[in-house]
Amino acid sequence: MVLLESGGYHPASTHDRFELRAARLLWNPPRFGMTAPDGSRPVVMVSGRGVGGSTLINTKIGMRAVAQDHAKWHAASGLVNERGEPFSAADLDPWYEQVEQRMGVRPRTDWTHSVRTVERGFRAVGASLEPVTSYTNADCESIGSCTAGCPTNAGGSALNRYIHPAMLTGRLDVRPGTLVGRVRVTGEGTDRRVAGVDYVDGDGAHELDADVVVLAAGSLVTPQLLQRSGLAALDTPSARLIGRNLGTHTARMVHGVFDDVMDTHVVYPLTAHCRDFARDEDGGFIVEATTILDPVGLASNLVDEHGRPLWGERLASVMRRFRHMTALMMMTNDSNTGVVEETGDLTGRISVPIPEEDQARLDRAHEFCERVLREAGAREVVSTGYITSHVQGSCRMGSDPRRSVCDANQRMWDVDGLYLGDASVIPRTLTYNPSLTIMALAERLAAHLAR
Ligand SMILES: Cc1cc2nc3c(=O)[nH]c(=O)nc-3n(C[C@H](O)[C@H](O)[C@H](O)COP(=O)(O)OP(=O)(O)OC[C@H]3O[C@@H](n4cnc5c(N)ncnc54)[C@H](O)[C@@H]3O)c2cc1C
Repeated sequence: MVLLESGGYHPASTHDRFELRAARLLWNPPRFGMTAPDGSRPVVMVSGRGVGGSTLINTKIGMRAVAQDHAKWHAASGLVNERGEPFSAADLDPWYEQVEQRMGVRPRTDWTHSVRTVERGFRAVGASLEPVTSYTNADCESIGSCTAGCPTNAGGSALNRYIHPAMLTGRLDVRPGTLVGRVRVTGEGTDRRVAGVDYVDGDGAHELDADVVVLAAGSLVTPQLLQRSGLAALDTPSARLIGRNLGTHTARMVHGVFDDVMDTHVVYPLTAHCRDFARDEDGGFIVEATTILDPVGLASNLVDEHGRPLWGERLASVMRRFRHMTALMMMTNDSNTGVVEETGDLTGRISVPIPEEDQARLDRAHEFCERVLREAGAREVVSTGYITSHVQGSCRMGSDPRRSVCDANQRMWDVDGLYLGDASVIPRTLTYNPSLTIMALAERLAAHLAR
């Protein structure tokens, strides 16, 4: 088995806490989802690169899909289980259990000073705050380096929990620094099947033959690889859906500036969340507490009331109080209106129009966070623009080929042997953080392939 990854191989021993080094080595350059044709108020899309993908730099919150997610999946793509019943929690639970065990998911009750501070604000507005569950071992030193890579392996990643054990078996050949450019396919119609992939590395261009290919380049690149391979041009309903229905789970970080020192950058981020508004009928958003970007990331993502980058004296005045700031992370359910189109270099043209109901959720969530922070004692509130680290959809799975790109086993309807193994298959945006579900689906796919 061969694993091709365009980024590098970066085990824990190579991680330090240097923001700009991590940004260059472990993060992709941000992509921008256009919400309007004039490019105003884009959604900044961030992701990781390297063997292990975005889990190398993520904040490890591990949450399952909930009932409203499964109901939306079935409605969107007719997804059913082997017995023909609407796909439900029971169909993924055994896979979640395996993932949770391997990743070491546990509740985080070690709330920090900044969480205790905002907890007062949640209480004051009548909202609740609970511990999150996260894949961090008990020996997590809580030094706040998750997004620059965990230096101790206490934080789980696909690399340290799945890929390293597989490498030890001697049956997995990991090739970092290899950029896949195309999937090769032979035959026509019902005989169409995968033949391998083309990739480039430092030595030049290569062809790799394979009977089975699992594409897992993330929701923004997987559809582009299919498009460049000519699979979106096939005359089938599922081909026309490649790159469609992208969801963003759009977020904003809403910061309070307090009199007290918060030092949110030197603790494990995000130990608590508010789930009161998670159901669409209750608001359709969640709020996590507390977090802060490292200084360069923070300074380049803050915006004013009109969504324009914060600049000059106002930015300097906020940044001078960096240690006094702490943020709530709001994330909103969305209607999967995004589209990814290939542009020749795998950067892609990404549009994410925000329908009225999604905009209303974003506004309501922001207002709520601002109110909580003010009640908790914040002197000033300042926010980032729209951000997503949770892109999903774009090649949705389903049981109806007219409404999905791959089937319930994540096999492309149009190509035998070609599977999708990442967030692109999620039919509708999840209510909570997606990584546990992506891993549960990957476990399920692995069991299917083994059979
Ligand atoms: C800062 C941050 C914090 C997050 N925090 C959380 C959290 O707390 N909880 C949670 O559940 N989720 C979190 N997430 C989201 C979660 O990590 C992602 O949703 C998940 O990892 C996505 O998995 P994926 O397989 O779809 O894509 P990725 O994990 O992004 O993997 C795609 C991989 O493919 C590689 N690749 C791309 N193109 C090519 C190519 N052409 N050839 C070869 N390789 C290629 C990329 O370099 C990358 O390594 C966070 C994400 C970020 C960025």
